[in-house]
Amino acid sequence: MRRTLIAGNWKMNGSFAANRSLLSEIKAGLPASLQCDVLVCAPAPYFAQCAEVLGGTVVSWGAQDVSVHAHGAYTGEISASMLQDCACKYAIVGHSERRAYHAETNELVAHKAQQLLKHGVLPVVCVGETLEQRESGQTNAVVAAQLNAVLDVLDSLDGLVIAYEPVWAIGTGKTATPEMAQEVHHFLRQQVAARDAGAAETVQILYGGSMKPENAKELLAMPDIDGGLIGGAALKSQDFLAIIAAS
Ligand code: PEP
Repeated sequence: MRRTLIAGNWKMNGSFAANRSLLSEIKAGLPASLQCDVLVCAPAPYFAQCAEVLGGTVVSWGAQDVSVHAHGAYTGEISASMLQDCACKYAIVGHSERRAYHAETNELVAHKAQQLLKHGVLPVVCVGETLEQRESGQTNAVVAAQLNAVLDVLDSLDGLVIAYEPVWAIGTGKTATPEMAQEVHHFLRQQVAARDAGAAETVQILYGGSMKPENAKELLAMPDIDGGLIGGAALKSQDFLAIIAAS
């Protein structure tokens, strides 16, 4: 049985004041018998604040990216060991915004995931097709190439988390239907099974792309959807809590 993971991606949003309200409201609003894992992926300057407010609670915090390098002369970069030092449990890699605006390749994303696992930080590897790719029937080929680049470099798939985020659904208000998402999630699980049947049973595959309280229940009810990676709705405590409640 896979545990559901509800993860917020704050992107480049937040301030000490706004985060304090958001995190306190999330903490206060969690059900006593929480059935899922909860994560917030904050900008790096706020990891210490996450530790202060969330330390000792069931809510984890994580990063939105990591350097592919271990350490050294890479100005502005943040290494996996630094994320580990900041008690980040997870880090997102390969978000479509990083692939699009920072020209991140499948191979770079794969090596970032490898760096994270080396340091005990769980990678949330994002894959997903653009609208043009979907309309030209390339969805499976695109997500398979993105995922297989990662599977190729990892010695063990323990701790790997996958997020299927169709690019056309991110921040647009357009959501994949539960059936559309399920089809791709099932395909992704088959890709993992081709390498490691046991890992395919346990790997969590999250859906991301305009997940909100109104559609979360239906999406999360699909057999291969093991949680959500949530952007916009993760910045509003009520919405984030409603998605947690729907899981
Ligand atoms: C995301 O950025 O990962 C995301 C899914 O954003 P949104 O929920 O706003 O579409």
